[in-house]
Amino acid sequence: DERKRKAAAVIEEVEQKFATPTALLRGIADAMVEEMERGLRADPHAPLKMVISYVDNLPTGDEHGLFYALDLGGTNFRVIRVQLGGREKRVVKQQYQEVSIPPHLMVGTSTELFDFIAAELEKFVRTEGEDFHLPEGRQRELGFTFSFPVNQTSISSGTLIKWTKGFSINGTGQAFYLVPKKIYVSVGEDVVAELSRAMERQGLDMKVTALVNDTVGTLAGGRYGDNDVVAAVILGTGTNAAYVEHANVIPKWNGLLPKSGDMIYEKMISGMYLGEIVRRILLKLAHDASLFGDVVPPKLEQLFALRTPDVSAMHHDTSHDLKHLGAKLKDILGIPDTSLEARYITLHVCDLVAERGARLAAAGIYGILKKLGKDKVPSDDFKTHRTVVAIDGGLYEHYKKFSACLEATIADLLGEEAASSVVVKLANDGSGIGAALLAASHSQYA
Ligand code: ADP
Ligand code: MG
Repeated sequence: DERKRKAAAVIEEVEQKFATPTALLRGIADAMVEEMERGLRADPHAPLKMVISYVDNLPTGDEHGLFYALDLGGTNFRVIRVQLGGREKRVVKQQYQEVSIPPHLMVGTSTELFDFIAAELEKFVRTEGEDFHLPEGRQRELGFTFSFPVNQTSISSGTLIKWTKGFSINGTGQAFYLVPKKIYVSVGEDVVAELSRAMERQGLDMKVTALVNDTVGTLAGGRYGDNDVVAAVILGTGTNAAYVEHANVIPKWNGLLPKSGDMIYEKMISGMYLGEIVRRILLKLAHDASLFGDVVPPKLEQLFALRTPDVSAMHHDTSHDLKHLGAKLKDILGIPDTSLEARYITLHVCDLVAERGARLAAAGIYGILKKLGKDKVPSDDFKTHRTVVAIDGGLYEHYKKFSACLEATIADLLGEEAASSVVVKLANDGSGIGAALLAASHSQYA
């Protein structure tokens, strides 16, 4: 009938627009390598900023002593302490605490926010037990993971380039508001100086010895656990990556570049957006093809009403009548009675959106492997060599169909032989422990 025909037309259009054939992914990976090189040449117009971390030594395993870390990225922050026991004992003891940021502080001034964080940190330090040891006369040291683009000026200083992840979404009862994420510090200010001043105001004697992005923290944490880790990727609320580059191949700007192909956009991949993309397609289906009946469900019209974890839950429904998916449509979007057909169409939309995101993310990771020269079959001398990419982030960790598709696509792009030496693995909480490890390897006492 007419509805079915219209629904099919919408789906067909989405399938066409979302198609990611392998040839396209290869083109994206090549463009990515080009753009990485352009970013390294410090071209001011380069879309990939290629921020230099100032981390010149990754953890070796010999790190020793008590270190703290602070991980500030999304709507939560975490404080971590770890007692490191050197090569033999490794991580002797680790404790952490997660604190959610009160919404009013997320749109307030940076001073208020840093005061809140420093106060929580000071409380956490006071609970330090006997398993942790600070040598007499020493200052406590902290690695600060700050997951926004920062122009580092040294290992322990840097200024904010711009706010990313677009918006933070506050749920207040039934209504959702989009609040511009204009928080923490103003662009151009030194984030470590801000944090240090707040710690002083709390009477907390602690020195920030490393300022790192979450990708760099994950790289450090990953390397500590596995010597073959060469790159780290975050697939969470946002998307980002870090890898080890030789200092001597960061050249100066040298003129025009070939026109690049397609670029990967964070908004097609990240946890913050996948749910919203599904919502928009379902809304079009509701409008054009009355997918959920004659009336367009009002909740379906609300920006960000559908979140990525909900999409993931719907996508993983294996019941024959998709009853869990149906329950989600009811609970989240207020659509009570859905036809089996509408539920299957919804499932298909989840699949299209997740698959596109995962395949594009895979192309980006393949691009990094290419940049590192790790996309080739290792020569005989290096047959045993492994290349490991550490991945962290809630999207990769929890959305199994996404991570499975991502891994299969990387293997497909590498080809069977090269793929056999590349390992992609979850570095759970790499960024927290990684920042503490970098605080250790950049300690004032080291
Ligand atoms: P951040 O990047 O803010 O540090 P995390 O790494 O903690 O974020 O990941 C949180 C994000 O992961 C959420 O914003 C959400 O998009 C995504 N996510 C969390 N749980 C799931 C899930 N079960 N399925 C899909 N995505 C999820
Ligand atoms: Mg994070």
